[in-house]
This record gives sequence, structure tokens and C-alpha cells, in this order.
Amino acid sequence: MALLYSMGRETRQPRVATSREQGPRAGGGPPPDAGPATPLRYLPGVGPHRATLLAKLGLATVEDALYFLPARHEDRTRLLPLRSVVPGETASVTGVVRGVSPPPRGRPRNPLAVLLGDGSGFLSCVWFNQPYLARVFERGQRLYVHGKVQRYRGGPLQMQVKDYEIVDEAPEEERLHTGRLVPVYRLTQGLTQRPMRRLMRRLVESHAGRLPDPVPAALRRARRLPPLASALGGAHFPATATEHAAARRRLVYDDFFLFELGLAIRRHREGREPGLCLNPPGALASRLRAALPFALTAAQERVWREIRADMAAEYPMNRLLQGDVGSGKTLVAALALVTAVEAGRQAAFMAPTEILAEQHLGTLTALLTPLGVRVALLTNAVRGAARTSLLAAVARGEVDCVVGTHALVQEGVAFARLGLAVVDEQHRFGVAQRATLRGKGERPDVLVMTATPIPRSLALTLYGDLDVSLLDELPPGRTPVKTVARSEARRGRIYGFLREQVAAGRQVYVVCPLVEESEALDLQAATEMAERLGREVFPDLRVGLLHGRMPFADKERVMAAFKAGAIHILVSTSVIEVGIDVPNASVMVVEHAERFGLSQLHQLRGRVGRGPWRSYCILLGGAQGDARRRIEAMTRTGDGFKIAETDLALRGPGEFFGTRQSGLPEFRIGDLVRDGAALVAARKDALALVAQDPYLHRPEHLALRAAVLTRWRGKLDLASVG
Ligand code: ADP
Ligand code: MG
Repeated sequence: MALLYSMGRETRQPRVATSREQGPRAGGGPPPDAGPATPLRYLPGVGPHRATLLAKLGLATVEDALYFLPARHEDRTRLLPLRSVVPGETASVTGVVRGVSPPPRGRPRNPLAVLLGDGSGFLSCVWFNQPYLARVFERGQRLYVHGKVQRYRGGPLQMQVKDYEIVDEAPEEERLHTGRLVPVYRLTQGLTQRPMRRLMRRLVESHAGRLPDPVPAALRRARRLPPLASALGGAHFPATATEHAAARRRLVYDDFFLFELGLAIRRHREGREPGLCLNPPGALASRLRAALPFALTAAQERVWREIRADMAAEYPMNRLLQGDVGSGKTLVAALALVTAVEAGRQAAFMAPTEILAEQHLGTLTALLTPLGVRVALLTNAVRGAARTSLLAAVARGEVDCVVGTHALVQEGVAFARLGLAVVDEQHRFGVAQRATLRGKGERPDVLVMTATPIPRSLALTLYGDLDVSLLDELPPGRTPVKTVARSEARRGRIYGFLREQVAAGRQVYVVCPLVEESEALDLQAATEMAERLGREVFPDLRVGLLHGRMPFADKERVMAAFKAGAIHILVSTSVIEVGIDVPNASVMVVEHAERFGLSQLHQLRGRVGRGPWRSYCILLGGAQGDARRRIEAMTRTGDGFKIAETDLALRGPGEFFGTRQSGLPEFRIGDLVRDGAALVAARKDALALVAQDPYLHRPEHLALRAAVLTRWRGKLDLASVG
């Protein structure tokens, strides 16, 4: 092996030696050079102990490790002459060993000191707790060292060494720890940078060149991307910052390209197979509109035209409707539902929680039953005989529109002729649930709705398999919600304000936060708040309580009472976050606002400002750092898109999109915010490629096909169409 600085040096450390002795091949297993899928524990020098540590970092195979890029690189390229080092600074230097002084006998806590010299002067370098190094260093050796320079008790300058390299053992091109851009990896307890770097170097040398390069050469040329092997090398051990940038650019491209290819293929396949044409004359939709006390907004009109055209078309609709809280998505959905029914089909409307399903049922029943549309509710609360007869009715086609929760996608739910599936608050559901619902019919139209808007370019790219409609206008007459941040000290005055508002006929929400994601504690906080408000603060008013654990019938009762104005102040956990519609409620107090996410706060705020009255959102609690920025964003703007952008920037895309939950692949390297332009480029290339070779059958695309399938792990059934 070319690398002189192998893991072998560490056999001096007994803990590691023990584990290595139960050597890799002792228990059989594949040979150490079996390709990218080789488990790391079979590599020489890894062994079970280190393999366990690596597994803690999520690294099981050679390929995992190759894509485990350094968290950063430390620039140790600038070497200072010894006499130019400055106390208090971290420096890299090189020199010849002039003397080695091990810690004196009986004082093991003293450091090992090595005196380095170069033409310019001398520097004492010290190592703590590594007495064995006394046997490693010899006079006359040339060393590279990196560390912090300090003056110890008024004596001469010395460097506390963080990393070193012996030049004879590590000629320039093989240096790993000093005198170069040094990779710094994310670690776990028990693992240190030096062996990690050695392992990575070894993997890059032995395995990177053997990974098939998925990106076709023509594309690589067009986008000026380095080959995969050199990109992996350059991402771990770049010679220059430029090399590192090119390497990263290539790996980010791959990340996005494979993702976008999957989306493009799926879209191509679904677009090819005709679905239902739901194109009735539109009598029901007209009657629905005529019955409304208001006109559609221009945005609703536009979006409805888009949806109507999709439904009428021969191919299945697959559309995402984005609209800020209160923009009137439900009404648009209702138009789609009656259109499906008029076309002789059934429709399903799926909401993320029981209480929302119940709300939608109320809204839709009021809108649709006068038109003769039969609407029913299906949640897990519908049990026993009621459930049996409902399921039978749905299966016989005697229910036109089923509103429900994820209960809709359970086994045993069968539709006679499902033509349209609407999914509300799509970010709460996974791609898989959407697909299951779709599977309940024969390629029905699908409309997903979300109030968590994301920047449009990202939406198009990320949901590349969906068309996007935007409700970018609120119904007229909405007053913007005045949002303020207040500290605990103002609580008394706030309560006075609530009292005034109730006296003026309004109603109030008091929202209690999530406590450590524990529903039980959550509930306790809300329960105590409701009791205190009811007993001590507002004994003369009616205070209600709503939380996620309440039996459904109780929730329903409380909501009905609040809607009817019989409850003045509704204390709740964040269950009211989405969709609840009580226009007379004009004030919201959020307790411990710092504990809520930004989008969540925005959703909550959307519960007020629904009537003609001036509305208020009072964010209580102290906040620092990100929490402070979230609260500032809330007080600064009511625009859901601005909020979403801030949220995206604060949380980072992984958490923002909840890709794990939504079933979209996670990006290994690409960062949706930072690398947005790369995403757009990758999407363009993916669409062009799929237009030419939809199932990647051409020989030059075989490696690509394999890579896409791996990346999409079973979520992309290329084989069935191939
Ligand atoms: P969201 O988009 O948050 O789901 P909703 O569909 O709940 O919004 O609508 C919020 C409120 O606005 C409802 O009370 C609804 O009746 C009302 N609304 C919807 N469209 C209009 C409109 N064009 N003009 C006036 N009010 C409307
Ligand atoms: Mg809604």
C-alpha cells in the first residue's frame, strides 16, 4: 500500500489493538476489495470496534464513507518560519527535530517536548498524554506541526501540537494532517480525526476510481464537471480551494440530477397512461358558485380554471395547490369535488386530523348537500356498525364525497368509482399516502393543497412530478393581523385587553406550546392554563379547553360551542394549528411562542383575522437566537411566502421540507438553499434526458439507471415499465 501513514501506527494504543486482533477476516466475509458495497468492517485496519464507531456516523459501507464529506477543511498550507510565530495564534510550521525530551520520570502529566529548528530559529513543541511519541520522534527528522502557540509562564514560546506529520514518512503528496487543506470530519466519541483521515484517504485511493460514473460523458462535458473519482478525491483531499469547489459542484449536481431524473421518469410514466376525463357541463359548480354570498377572488378563478382543465384532460391531474392560510383553498376544492360528482364519479377529501376532517365535513356538507351531493365522514372515530355500513355504501357508490383522515387510505376502504382525491395540508402526508389514495381508484385526478408555501422555483423543482397552482390573493375585507411580541411582565395588561375584546363581542384563542414533544405534558400545560384562566382570571367568562388527546366527541362539542360563541376563550394545544375557521375569534395569545416553529406560528395566526374586525396575535415569551428571529419575522410580515423563505433559511431544507417524512429522498450533499441554481440546472438536464431516453435503456445510460434506482430505493418502479 502506498500510504505510509497507515492505521498500523495505532497498534501502540492498546484499546484499538484489542479490537483489531479480532481481525476483519477472522470471521470470514467478503474480501477487502469487494467494491463500494463492502461493509467497512471488512477493511483491513477497521475491525469491529471502529466499525461500530463508524456505524454511529451512519457509515456502513465503503460507498457511505466515500460520500461522508468533511464538515470543513482547515487551511494549513501557509507555513510560517519558526521565529515568526505569534503567541495566541494557531499556526503551521515545519522544522528539523533538534531534541526530544520525554516527560520526566514520575511526572506523567508533563508534556513531551520536541525542539524544532529551521534557518530562522527554534520552537518548542509539546504533546500532552501521548508519551509513546517519545519513541516516534528522532533527532534529524523533519516534522510538520500544526497547533496553537503560547508563552508558558513567561518562558519561551511553545506550540501545543494538534496535528503532526513526519516528512520522510509522508512526502508532500501524501501528507494528510499538516501543510495542506486538511479535512475535518464530523466524529463520534472514541474516534479521532487522524485515523478518520487515514481511512478516508485509503478509501479514496482504493475505491473511488472503481465507482461507476453515472453521469453520461456528454453531460459531464457540457456542465464542465470533473469525473466522479476525482470529485470524490477533491472533496476529501483537495490540493486547492478551486479543486474543492469543482469537486463539490460535481457531487451536488449528482445529488440533484439523480433526484430530478426520478421525478422526471415518474412524471413521464404517469403522463403517458391516460386517466379519467372528468368534463361534465358544470351545472353543479355553477349552482355552488351561485349559492355563495361572495364572489371568487381572481386568484381562485385562475386556479379553478387550471384545475378544471386538468380534470377535463385525458391524463390524470397531479396538481399542488399552494395558498396561504385563509386564501380559500377549501372552496376551490369544493368546486373540484362537485365537478367529479357531476361526471358520475366519487370524490375523497383527506385531512390530516380528525378535527379538521370534521370541520371540512361541516363546510362541505353545507355547500354540497343542497346540490344533492351525498357527503360522509370517515375517520377512526367512525366504528362498529356505522363504519361497516358506511364502507359498504362507499363501495356500492352510494356516497358521492367521503371526507376523512388517513383512515381513508386504510385497507378495507374501497370506492366504487373514485374519480378525484383531494389531500389537504399535503406536508402532513407522505408521498406514499398520496399514492395509496390514488390507488383506491383507477388513475383518479389528484389535488394536493398546502398552506406551507415554498419558493416557487423550489416548488417546481422539488415537486417535479406535480403541477403547481398558486392562490396568491386573500379574499377581500381581511384586515391584516396586528402581531406583537410581549414579555411575561405584560401578562396582566394582556388579560385586560382580552377582557375588552370579549366585552366587544369577540372571542379569543390561547395556545399552549409543545412541551418536549410529550403530548401528556402538553396537555397538562393546557389543562392548567384553562383552569387558572377560568377560575382566577376570568371567572365571569366561559373558558374552554381543546387538546389532541380528548375523545373525539368532546372535541367536537367544544368546537361547536366555540363556533356558536358559547365559549369566550378557548385554550388549546397546537391542535388548532391548521384549518379551524371561526371568523368571530379575533385575538390569539400564544404562550411560549419561542417554542413554536415559524411556519407553525404563521399557521396558528391564520386562525384570526378571518372576520371584519381588527385582529391581534400576541406572542408571549422571551426569545433569543433563532427563536428571536422567528418572532421578529412574525411581527414584521404577514406574507406566507416571506415567512416560508425565512423559515427555510433558519431551519435548513431538510427540516423545513420534512423530506424524511414526506418520502422524498434526502440529499447527501446538495443544499436546497445554497445550491438552488444547481438544482434548476439538474432538473433541466433530467427533463431533456428523459425526453430522449425515458427509461434509461441506452447503453451509455446503464450506470445512470442503476444509480437512479439505488437513489430512489424502491420508490421508483423502473423495472415494471422497462
Ligand atoms: P384555507 O385556504 O386556509 O383553507 P379556507 O378555505 O378555510 O382557507 O377559507 C377561509 C375563509 O375564507 C372561509 O371562511 C371561506 O368561506 C372564506 N372565503 C373563501 N373564499 C372567499 C372569497 N372569495 N371571498 C370571501 N371569503 C372567502
Ligand atoms: Mg384549509
